[in-house]
Parts: sequence; C-alpha cells; structure tokens
Amino acid sequence: MATAIRLHEAGWEPVVVERAPSRRTGGYFVGLFSVGKTAAARLGVLARMHLRTPPDHHTWTVDRVGRRQHSAGFLDQPGNPEGVMRGDIEDALWKRVDGRIEVRFATVPVAVRQTPETVGVTLLDTADDRTYEEEFDLVVGADGLRSTVRRLVFGADATFMRSLHAVVCAFSLDHQVPGYPDSDQVILAQPGRSLWVFPFRDRTPTALFAYRTRNVDAEFRNDPVTTLTSRFAGLDGGGMVAFALEQLRRQPDRLFDSVHQVRMPRWHDGRVVLLGDAAWCLTLYSGMGASAGMIGAVALGDELSARPDDLPAAFGAWEKRMRPLVRKHQLLAYVKAQFFVPSNPFAAWIRGKVVAVVTRRLTSEASAGVNRGAT
Ligand SMILES: Cc1cc2nc3c(=O)[nH]c(=O)nc-3n(C[C@H](O)[C@H](O)[C@H](O)COP(=O)(O)OP(=O)(O)OC[C@H]3O[C@@H](n4cnc5c(N)ncnc54)[C@H](O)[C@@H]3O)c2cc1C
Repeated sequence: MATAIRLHEAGWEPVVVERAPSRRTGGYFVGLFSVGKTAAARLGVLARMHLRTPPDHHTWTVDRVGRRQHSAGFLDQPGNPEGVMRGDIEDALWKRVDGRIEVRFATVPVAVRQTPETVGVTLLDTADDRTYEEEFDLVVGADGLRSTVRRLVFGADATFMRSLHAVVCAFSLDHQVPGYPDSDQVILAQPGRSLWVFPFRDRTPTALFAYRTRNVDAEFRNDPVTTLTSRFAGLDGGGMVAFALEQLRRQPDRLFDSVHQVRMPRWHDGRVVLLGDAAWCLTLYSGMGASAGMIGAVALGDELSARPDDLPAAFGAWEKRMRPLVRKHQLLAYVKAQFFVPSNPFAAWIRGKVVAVVTRRLTSEASAGVNRGAT
C-alpha cells in the first residue's frame, strides 16, 4: 500500500492485489523508528497513525526464577522507536488508499510474462476460483518473506532465504503479566529461549516467544502450544512462561513462524521489482522491516518520477539508494538477535553486561534531566 500511495502520487494508476480475503488488521508489536516515521510522514500517513508507546513505561528483565531487575528495553534503542501494532500501520496506509486506489482482495498472481513493452500477469481470484489475464507497465512484488512474485520471476525461495535458525510466536495477551503495571515491558531472555512482553498505551500487551533451533522445519509438526510447551519446559520466569502459554492456548490469532533473511543480488528484472520483506527481509530482530518497507516505497516513487521513461535506470538508481540501508540492518540483525534471544550462556552474560551499562546510562541521564528541570 505504501508503494501504491507513492506511485499514485507520481502519476501511476496502481492496482493492489492482496491474497487475504479482507484487510489484515491487528497483528503484533512493531517498533517504528524515526526514519520510518519520516517515510510515513512523506507518504502522508504519519498523522493518521495510531501511536501507542505508554508515556511512563519501564522495562523489567526477569531471571529464570522470576527475580526482576529494572533494565533498558526495546523502546530505549537509539532512533526513538515508537510502539505500534502492525495493524496501526496498515490502518494508516489504508485510509490513504481507500477510495483512491483499486484493491483486489482474495487475489494472487499465478504467472508473470514479460515483453520489453509490457508485463502480463495471470491473476487468480480465490473467492470464485476464476483466473484472468491482465497487462501492466510495472509489477511491484511487495508480498512478504515468502513472495510469490519472487518465486515466479526470480527463482525458488531456497535460493534467497537464509535461515537464522530461530522460531517466533507473537500474539496478544488478555491482560498484563500478573504483578507488573500495564505500561511496563517484561523480558525473560535466557540462552536459546526468550519471552518478551510489549506494553501499549491503550490496549493490552502482546507477547513474543522466540527460541533458537538448528532444524526449523521440525518445529512445525505440532501446533504452537504443544511445541512451545515442550521448548520452554523447565523455564519459569516466576510464572511468566506458564501465564503466556495459557494465554496462547486461548488466542486463535497468532503468528508462528521461522526467522529468515532474504538475500538477493538484484531486486529487479525487466518490468518487475521486489520491495520490502520480499526483497530484503531484515527479520523482526532488526526492528526495521516496516520502516524499510516505507522508505523503499518513497525512494522507488522518487526514482521513477526522476526517470519516468527509463525503468531500468530508475530501478538501478533505487537499488543503489536502498542497498546501504538494507546491508546495514541485515548485519545489525545478527547482533540484535543476541539481544532478543542470546545464542548461548556466554552471549547471555555479555547481553546482561551491555544491558546493565545502557541501563545505568539511561538512569543517570534521566536523573540529570530531572535535576536540570528542577533548577
Ligand atoms: C513478530 C514480528 C515482529 C516484528 N517487529 C518489527 C518491529 O518491531 N519493527 C519493524 O519495523 N518490523 C518488525 N517486523 C517486521 C515487519 O512486520 C515486516 O518487515 C513488514 O511487515 C514487511 O512488510 P511487507 O509489506 O514487505 O510484507 P508483509 O507485511 O508480509 O505484507 C505482505 C502482504 O502481501 C500479501 N501477500 C502474500 N503473498 C501474496 C500473494 N501470493 N498474492 C497477493 N498478496 C500476497 C500478504 O497477505 C500481506 O498483506 C516484525 C515481524 C514479526 C513477524
């Protein structure tokens, strides 16, 4: 939708093709960094976006048996991340799309054929099982980690998806972990497994289980509750794990997936270009996927506006502009992964030391701020 908004503004007539039968609302916690907010503002959607960072939030790091310590958390990272739900971004974009840009739900591409002049797409309307052909000047594959456009035009998923050997499960909680204020973040980060609880200003928190495993495919033989119960056996966190598993049991709307980056030598081919997770999935660890998608959309519109009659040159300039940002955050994701779920006891120990230093710095900055305010 971000790309459609920007291309519409640049004079194109986009058609958004969405596999889901209706809008995908809700979702999970997303931290939107300042570069993402700038892109959202450029798209004209920031002012319409529901931002949900609690005003007076604290973060607690909890050990195996539930002892808690005040610590730095996700929202304390540089770049002023703002807490939203994925659906808040969707909603802000939707308000800009609705009535202006054609959206076809329950529709997927099944074939793509290119000539120098046009790109023909076979589309399947999954609601009535009808296939039809249509010609476009340009196809943007912004269809996520397991992109169909990528598979149809560039090759098999396995060629481009790099496993981070981890599994995540994200879902909403009915209420905060017992014993913690609604506005607080709670983190249990142990070697190989972690549980994060993200607070919001005006809704219940969301939870994220994450764990590392060599054989990711084997993790999906059972339902998420069974798998997570077995994977988190022996880890209690003062009742926090049992609480989250009980909540998961009652929550039908959950994301249970493996973690992969997408690495591609080229994001465009003729009149087809990939964007967002389809092109470069940074993973949840980077905390930059949503921001990068909107930045990519703005940049693509800029380059197509600058070179309206030369698609290869516009795509080339766009890739050159996006590559450094993507490279940086793909590398950083490996570092941040240790922050989310340390890979072994030594990494967990280092993580603890780093978080302690950052926490001390934040605490002293906060008290200096209070003192300055008082004088
Ligand atoms: C648990 C979790 C936490 C995260 N936390 C953060 C965070 O803190 N900060 C951040 O910036 N990012 C975060 N991310 C990443 C962020 O959600 C993604 O990077 C972002 O949603 C990517 O946007 P996208 O539009 O490229 O792909 P998606 O959001 O995956 O959207 C792709 C769309 O294409 C549709 N689609 C798929 N296949 C087809 C098809 N064949 N035909 C038609 N339509 C199709 C899908 O239904 C979907 O609507 C997180 C991700 C997860 C899983």
